[in-house]
Amino acid sequence: MADRDLRAAVHELAASPLLLVALDFDGTMAPLVDRPEDARAIPEARAAMLRLAGLPETRVALISGRSLDSLVHVADPPASVLLSGSHGVESRLDAEPRVTLDDGERQRLYALRAVLDGVADSVENAFVEVKPAGFALHTRLVAPEGAAEAQRRAREGTAAIDGLTVRSGSNVLEFSVRSTTKGDAVRMLRDFAGAASVLFAGDDVTDEDGFAVLGPGDLGLKCGAGPTAAEFSVADPAAVAAVLHELADAREQKYS
Ligand SMILES: [Mg+2]
Repeated sequence: MADRDLRAAVHELAASPLLLVALDFDGTMAPLVDRPEDARAIPEARAAMLRLAGLPETRVALISGRSLDSLVHVADPPASVLLSGSHGVESRLDAEPRVTLDDGERQRLYALRAVLDGVADSVENAFVEVKPAGFALHTRLVAPEGAAEAQRRAREGTAAIDGLTVRSGSNVLEFSVRSTTKGDAVRMLRDFAGAASVLFAGDDVTDEDGFAVLGPGDLGLKCGAGPTAAEFSVADPAAVAAVLHELADAREQKYS
C-alpha cells in the first residue's frame, strides 16, 4: 500500500462517525517556554481546538504530562474538552477531576519528594514541580553541566524507591509513583468517547506511548524533528494548527 499523504489522511479521518482529537499541549499547541506557567497555545491552535470541540460527533481531549490544575491554567479549555493530566494519572471527563493514591504510593511520594527537594536546593535554578502522583525536576534554566549533574543525582537518589516511573523530557526529569503513560490515556479517552477514530498529536518522547496505541484509521502527528512512531511529522505548533483547521474544515463540510 502506498503511503498516505497527510492531506488525504486528514480527509479520511474527517469522515469518521465519531472522532476523538487528542492533543498534547506543550510543544504541540504551545511553544516551549522557560517557565511552565507561562506556556500558552498559539492563537491558531487554540482556535482549532475550539472549532473542533464545537463540531458534532467530535470530541477534543488534551493529554499532558502536566498536573490537571496546571493544564487547566495554561490551556483554559472549555468544559466539553476531555482532559488527561500527569501522563494519564488524572482525568477530567465531563465531571470532577479525580486521582486516588493508596498508602504505599503516598509513602513513595514522600520519599521521592525528600530526594528531589535536596537536589533542587543544591543546584541553582533547578526546581521541583508538584504533580499528583509524583514530581518533575526542571533543569531548563540550569547550565548544561549542572543540569546533567542534577538529573544524575536525582536518578541515583531515587533508585532505591520501588515502583517509580521515570521519564526524561525536554530539560525535565519526571518521577511518578504510578506507571500510566500517554498510551493509557489515549486508550482510556478513546473508550470514554466511544471514538471510531483518533487523531493524536504530540512532540516529546513521552508522546511516543500515545502514537504506539494508534491503529488503522487513526492518525498520529508528531510535532518537530526526531524519530517517531507517528505516521506523519510536521515542523511546529503552527503546522499542527494548520492540520487541525483543515480537519475542522472537512468535518464542517460533512455536517453542513
Ligand atoms: Mg509536549
